[in-house]
Amino acid sequence: MKIVVLKFGGTSVGSIKKIKKITDIIINYKKRNFKVIVVSSAMSGVTNDLIKKSIEISDNFNESEYDALVSSGEQVACSLIAGRLNHKGYKSRSWMAWQIPIFTSGFHKNSRINHIYKQKIYKYIKEGGIPIIAGFQGINNKERITTLGRGGSDASAIMIAKFFKAQRCIIYTDVEGVYTTDPNKLNKAKKIKVISYEEMLEMASLGAKVMQPVSIQDARLNRIDIEVRSSFIKKSGTLITKRSNIINNKIITGISSTHNDSKVTLVGVKDKPGVAASIFKPLSKNLINVDMVVQNISPNGKETDLTFTIKTEDLNKTKKIIRNNKNINFRRLLFESGVTKISIIGVGMITTPGVTFRMFQALANKKINIQVISTSEIKISVLINKKDTKKALTILHKEFKLEN
Ligand code: ASP
Ligand code: MG
Repeated sequence: MKIVVLKFGGTSVGSIKKIKKITDIIINYKKRNFKVIVVSSAMSGVTNDLIKKSIEISDNFNESEYDALVSSGEQVACSLIAGRLNHKGYKSRSWMAWQIPIFTSGFHKNSRINHIYKQKIYKYIKEGGIPIIAGFQGINNKERITTLGRGGSDASAIMIAKFFKAQRCIIYTDVEGVYTTDPNKLNKAKKIKVISYEEMLEMASLGAKVMQPVSIQDARLNRIDIEVRSSFIKKSGTLITKRSNIINNKIITGISSTHNDSKVTLVGVKDKPGVAASIFKPLSKNLINVDMVVQNISPNGKETDLTFTIKTEDLNKTKKIIRNNKNINFRRLLFESGVTKISIIGVGMITTPGVTFRMFQALANKKINIQVISTSEIKISVLINKKDTKKALTILHKEFKLEN
């Protein structure tokens, strides 16, 4: 059976006009003899609105009721899609997670799909029906409705593609695909044709806007190819697939940049086992996400300097936590908001020597100062002054030939 999973995001079903438009996409696949399974998100803005209502009712809203509430937007979108397909003469109906059922494990608000029962949907598509499945939701073993975290209808689509062994999983969205860098920051940004799961995950700061990061992890584990493309413009999008499927002459696939980062430095920290842990334990307890970390070698064996980055919105909290931390000694606390992390990402760097040098030289040529460096197998990140962001993106995009 030639099965295709088509997932539509909130903006793709954001109005009646748009819903009418995307049903034409669905019908097109049907006409090409695909068995089509549709997964839909809620109409744009609806989930946010429901969350707002939950807060207004109670600042301590029961979590299973929260999931029952915020998952309801998908029901509206799905029945409207099915209704339009019926109107056009196609057999179609909406399916909520409990009707299939789609089982999840984990906590409310943040569950993961672990099993999808297939019989009913199989029967329905064999009879020629087009099932419109509500994304973002599942049920747990207590038969309560669960949700998969914000943007979770991507994970629904990927797991449905896995369980039904779909030939393709297409994520229809409001952008044309994944770009070499944020097109809003650099107009030379180019659409990427193929990208590996690993690169896509590393490009979270770009990728997250396109797809929910945990869903890419699901796709990677289950080897599901994903195509991201526009609901509104008929152009090929970006294919996210495994590394061995990619023949690529590019060393770097994309460049990401953060915004609103801050740098914190503890000068003259007593250098003994356990200090780093004592610094970061209270931060993690307070859910402060620490990103880049560097510790200098201590010249005298007694003291060292430690620098790390956080989101600027966490800066005041971080200062307070460090100053109140009785378990650490240091001479001075320095901080700087307005720094940006620029990362070049590409599996090609594993086999190509000299990439680090090229990046540093390109930045040096533009007199951009590097404050902190960190690397992984497929990523090199530098911390720079925020005001140099555009300059750095431009020069690196050029250096690694991303514009052609
Ligand atoms: N409607 C849900 C949300 O806004 C799920 C999704 O859009 O994927 O988070
Ligand atoms: Mg989304």
